[in-house]
Amino acid sequence: MPQKVILPETLEGKTILVAGAAGFVPSTLSEFYLNLGAKVIGLDNFITGSRSNIELLSKYENFEFHECDVAEGLPNFEGIDIDFIFSLASPASPIDFKVIPLEIMKVNSMGTWHLLELAKEKQARFLEASTSEVYGDPEIHPQVEEYVGSVNPIGIRSPYDESKRFAESLTMTYHRQFNVDTRIIRIFNTYGPRMRPNDGRVIPNFINQAMNNEDITIYGDGSQTRSFCFVTDLVDAIHNVMFSEVHTPFNCGNPDEYTIKEAAEFIIKTLGSESKITYHPLPEDDPKKRRPDMHKLMTISDFKPKVGFEEGLKRTAEYFKSLK
Ligand code: NAD
Ligand code: UDP
Repeated sequence: MPQKVILPETLEGKTILVAGAAGFVPSTLSEFYLNLGAKVIGLDNFITGSRSNIELLSKYENFEFHECDVAEGLPNFEGIDIDFIFSLASPASPIDFKVIPLEIMKVNSMGTWHLLELAKEKQARFLEASTSEVYGDPEIHPQVEEYVGSVNPIGIRSPYDESKRFAESLTMTYHRQFNVDTRIIRIFNTYGPRMRPNDGRVIPNFINQAMNNEDITIYGDGSQTRSFCFVTDLVDAIHNVMFSEVHTPFNCGNPDEYTIKEAAEFIIKTLGSESKITYHPLPEDDPKKRRPDMHKLMTISDFKPKVGFEEGLKRTAEYFKSLK
């Protein structure tokens, strides 16, 4: 039985590198660690991130930013101590899987490789952000970490799914070969403020459609399920994994499961919208069911999602309103 997670009260004096810092989840995580007193070094090439997130982080005097493509190489960190590395750089919306597939494959392979080399050199603890997509269209439900997945290796989602599977493999290999102190998380559908309104993922799409009283676009018949986690709960889960002693993957998410039709109806009701539901073709290989089994993380830590769907949707809608 692994030791129970003990969370630090402060990270003053520690340096944390966040790859993908201009993104939705990584910028929220960066701010969390800045508030815990750490120095945060952010890296991003803005392929799907926004400069406004970097402007926000730059208000903290302990934040430093380097614009770079981590798949091509990293800035020179000679003489600089780095304690923790978060490998979070990667486009994550299924619409990107078709538009920038090679960039996705490069960042999850070469980008992760460069970051693991840096972790080895600096003796830093390293965390790889993998995804529930490694389970593909799962044959078991809910998904437990032992399940090895059902991925179509040549399908349209494969640039993302297979490169994340490769990133997991590379991470475990650096751990086994070089004893790098690694962690792996498998993130399930996460939403919240700082997502791009035109990101293409279901929650930003439905919220923006509902706020504008436009048609809600359900793909397929809406019977497919997802489990939605609010971003601050995800950051809490990631923090618990980073301070665990476990090298094998952890599911990170909220196990509350909805059909996509239920989610659409709930969003219309919560936002008091007059939108009508419309149905459109289901994309290829779209997983039919998805829900994390969270026992592994909940057994070794006090992690528990705190933000319910209604509150999370309202907070996300407020954010989108503030952009107008
Ligand atoms: P995001 O697109 O908002 O953030 C990713 C960031 O990485 C962006 O700022 C992007 O510009 C940057 N990036 C991409 N390629 C890069 C490169 N080559 N060099 C430097 N920077 C690069 O997406 P997100 O939803 O915040 O996802 C963050 C991480 O979490 C990703 O690794 C993603 O695969 C993973 N994840 C997210 C979810 C989710 O539901 N949000 C689910 C599963 C996994
Ligand atoms: N989806 C939808 N309408 C949209 C966007 C997405 O019905 O406007 C569906 C999509 O087909 C999938 C689910 O919502 O079944 C979640 O999609 P998302 O792109 O958010 O991420 P995924 O979980 O598929 O990676």
